[in-house]
Amino acid sequence: MHCPFCGQPDSKVIDSRLVAEGQQVRRRRECVHCGERFTSYETAELVMPKIVKQDGTREPYNAEKLRAGMMRALEKRPVPMEDIESAITHIEHQLRAGGEREISSRNVGEAVMQALKQLDQVAYVRFASVYMSFQDIAEFRAEIERLEKLRP
Ligand SMILES: [Zn+2]
Repeated sequence: MHCPFCGQPDSKVIDSRLVAEGQQVRRRRECVHCGERFTSYETAELVMPKIVKQDGTREPYNAEKLRAGMMRALEKRPVPMEDIESAITHIEHQLRAGGEREISSRNVGEAVMQALKQLDQVAYVRFASVYMSFQDIAEFRAEIERLEKLRP
C-alpha cells in the first residue's frame, strides 16, 4: 500500500487487530521511507460472479431475482421460509465456490432446479417447466415419471 504522505510503496504493519465484530482487520502501518503512520482497513469481499445470459450479454447477479423465481415456483407450497432462505444461501455458496468471475445463467438455473428438487417436487416441476420450456406434454410426463422413480 502506497504511503498517503510521501507516495512510496513500502510500509510495514506495526499493529493488526480485528474490528467490527471480526468483520474487518484494522492495520496500523508505518512508512519505511518517511516514517509517517497511517491506518488501513481490510474487509473480505464476497463477490458473486457476473451472469452471462443466453444471448451472451452479462448482468450482475441479482439475489432478489433469484428469490422471486423460486418464490413463484413455491407459491402455496408447504415449505418453511427458513428452508427457502437456506437453499438460497446454499445456491449462492455454490455459485461462488468455483471462483469464476462469470457464470452462465444456465448454471444458475440448474442450481435452482437442484435446490427445488430437494425442497418440493411440485415447485421443482413448475420451475423446470418454465425454465426448460418443455416442448410438449410427453416431455413433461417423462420428467414426472423420472421423479416418481426417484421417490423412496
Ligand atoms: Zn511515507
